[in-house]
Amino acid sequence: MIDAAARAKRVLKDNQITDIPALALKDISKSEGIRFALNDYPMGLWDGTLLFKGDKRAILINTHKGNAGRHNFTFAHELGHYFLNHQPNFNHDGQPIIRCTASDIDNNQKTREVEANLFAVELLMPEDSFRLYMAGAPIDFELIGGLANRYMVSKHACSNHILGFTQAPCVIFGLMVSTLQVLLSLVQRGVSCVKWKYFLMAQQRIRL
Ligand SMILES: [Zn+2]
Repeated sequence: MIDAAARAKRVLKDNQITDIPALALKDISKSEGIRFALNDYPMGLWDGTLLFKGDKRAILINTHKGNAGRHNFTFAHELGHYFLNHQPNFNHDGQPIIRCTASDIDNNQKTREVEANLFAVELLMPEDSFRLYMAGAPIDFELIGGLANRYMVSKHACSNHILGFTQAPCVIFGLMVSTLQVLLSLVQRGVSCVKWKYFLMAQQRIRL
């Protein structure tokens, strides 16, 4: 598998991005000659598309679903496909494209989708600065909300990233009480060393 995070670090360095990378996505695209558009495509069952036309590229972001943080992640994910030199997997009206659905971005285990996500995570939340901002802080709603706001990403993406850095098993959840009870029940039965990757909707924290 390609070292996607290293590629993202390189892009950040080449573009001299040291502040909030999400604010630089459009400039990164322009510097590569990639045209882009963020539009509401209500009929589109996709979140992001990378179009190929000869040696030209374009990125479309479907803003119909999700929030700005989500759209930033999709944008970075499509840039990942571009910078990692992934090839088209779909043909739309004779035009080769890479088309990514929410499922592709959230859960897909295909190598190139995983690579594009790793690229997006490092591009938007660079490890070095991210670690600095989470150092010593408890994993709670305040931390996740603060970091998500700072890096202009969704709380879901942010909490996943935080869990990737944690050494101790922990649970982050924002689920219904009944689901919480199930999780606690699993923990009590010894199902503990698991990083539950879930988005946060309520101020809750558990350390196991
Ligand atoms: Zn994709």
